[in-house]
Amino acid sequence: MSKRDYYEILGVSKTATQEEIKKAYRQKAIQYHPDKNPDNKEAEDKFKEAAEAYEVLSNEEKKQRYDQFGHAGVGGASGNGGFTMNMEDIINNFGDIFGGGFFGGGFSRNGADRGRRIAKGTNLRIKVKLSLADIANGIEEKKVKIKRYNACKTCNGTGAKNEAVTNCSACGGAGYVIRVTNSFLGQIQSQQPCQTCEGTGKIIKDKCPNCAGEGIVIEEDLVAFNVPPGVSEGMQMTVREKGNAPKHGGISGDLIVIFEEEQHPELTRHDNDLVYDLLISIPDAILGTNAEIPTIDGKAKVKVDPGTQPGKVLRLRGKGLPTYGSYGRGDILVRINIFIPKNLSKDDKKLIEKLQKSQEFNPTPIKGEKNFFYRVKDIF
Ligand SMILES: [Zn+2]
Ligand SMILES: [Zn+2]
Repeated sequence: MSKRDYYEILGVSKTATQEEIKKAYRQKAIQYHPDKNPDNKEAEDKFKEAAEAYEVLSNEEKKQRYDQFGHAGVGGASGNGGFTMNMEDIINNFGDIFGGGFFGGGFSRNGADRGRRIAKGTNLRIKVKLSLADIANGIEEKKVKIKRYNACKTCNGTGAKNEAVTNCSACGGAGYVIRVTNSFLGQIQSQQPCQTCEGTGKIIKDKCPNCAGEGIVIEEDLVAFNVPPGVSEGMQMTVREKGNAPKHGGISGDLIVIFEEEQHPELTRHDNDLVYDLLISIPDAILGTNAEIPTIDGKAKVKVDPGTQPGKVLRLRGKGLPTYGSYGRGDILVRINIFIPKNLSKDDKKLIEKLQKSQEFNPTPIKGEKNFFYRVKDIF
């Protein structure tokens, strides 16, 4: 399932300003709004698609990640993550873009539930540290302890003692009062949350003693989620409805997982490649040697040819990290360095002085290898 480009969805260029992005979204939202396209699945999909694109492009941080990593940088990294914005969320967010009130809160997908906002808890953000091995293999079920608000079990999240809740008389239990306004789309009914019951539609007589009437309690929980292979530092993943429960019942917010990379003692990550600095002795560089180098899950042998120059890079294909959301694997790059000793015995010094006079030890350009002092930027 491939996603369309966000810029393409809104019909704006990559250099569009925030004002242009907002304007483009407003047009799409009006065009595909469900009130104007009743029972039109295609319009609904377009409507959601535009909302998702706007959600990312209107946020500088997300936009930057999208520009850099594409959908992988902003969506969920696993099957249970990503965008699944519902219509209610989208319409509730309109206040910001339409200045509020235009579409009101009146739209709801099923008429039976019309108007009553389903409360959503706040999102929780956690950081998860991953080793190179974790990143290379992914984690089937990563378990993390978190503190979050859960619905109070004593009152079943109602906040009322013995769950004794009555309907609000001011709004008849609806939680809202209707207001009619004129807009460019004609007369539109909009709903205002009821002041008496603060939009809940319910009145609590006696508060639940366990949660002091809040309907939520803070608890420590073990949550589990899948970490896909190939993620990188700063990448975010959304685990739906594993965040805080809202007061007095509703859907829990999301858990936003931010990945952090643990520094490997010897391997340095460069995209999907891993760089290892191998220090060898002068005789080994001249005569050649076999060296053992660390890999993600063990060790590997590399052959250093006789006459290897410092800065030379050996490549161990496929020993790097997997590409996130795709096939292929990076390499391990072994960068050769040569150890120059400082303290020499008298005998060794004599030996070196002898070598100094040798014709073969004069630096001379080597055919086909004239840039043997590789610079970092040449390697990558
Ligand atoms: Zn309670
Ligand atoms: Zn009320």
